[in-house]
Amino acid sequence: MKKLIVANWKMQVATTDGLFFLKQIANFSKFKNDLIVCPDFLILLQAGKILENTQHKLGAQNCSLKEKGALTGEISPRDLRLAGCSHVIIGHSERRHIFKEDSALINSKIQVALNNDLIPILCLGESWLERRSGRTRPVLSAQLKSALKGIKIKKSSDLILAYEPVWAIGSGKSLAPEEADKIINYISDRALKLNGKRFKVLYGGSINEDNASIFLLQKNIAGLLVGGASTQELSLKKLLKA
Ligand code: PEP
Repeated sequence: MKKLIVANWKMQVATTDGLFFLKQIANFSKFKNDLIVCPDFLILLQAGKILENTQHKLGAQNCSLKEKGALTGEISPRDLRLAGCSHVIIGHSERRHIFKEDSALINSKIQVALNNDLIPILCLGESWLERRSGRTRPVLSAQLKSALKGIKIKKSSDLILAYEPVWAIGSGKSLAPEEADKIINYISDRALKLNGKRFKVLYGGSINEDNASIFLLQKNIAGLLVGGASTQELSLKKLLKA
């Protein structure tokens, strides 16, 4: 079955390299899995044109909490849409932890993304301390509940969830695929209870070309959100074939 690979380039790929890489990606075809590329904001307009007539989708790594206003330094979801984005990552752990994004802000971003016809990729994940104290499931449930509070989602394809244990991101440590699958099943059930929809749930955290296929074989894992391994042509190709 086709699964989804979301390539989160973070701030790791310089704009010139990113444009070169996107041109190579535009020629990628006949891969098993679908691809959403999330490059640097500065190249989104050009990325939109490069990927325009391809099967690949474009995503942003973040968006503002409003469509317009006195918000210095922010990027409007309206403009992301105009640039050709179909998706936007919201609530990534780096945004939550480094930039102190709280659940109210994440909730506003999801609403404004939906209002602008963008599909939010909502990231959820527990810290190492929360895992160690046996609180993974309640933490994920609370994150999901607050992020989606008061938000009406029309179709199950209008939102994607991504389970990324915070301690697994960029650390080289990933969860056992079977455990990731069980937690993802739990998230999917919680979301169904809260919103009446069964959303796709991705897994993320130190995925590479060697471990991707075993995660993708799991029943409840709809795809992968990948940082480091998505920034090189060869490993991205392997992820798309996995
Ligand atoms: C991420 O950026 O969400 C991520 C999972 O990064 P990495 O694959 O590098 O752990």
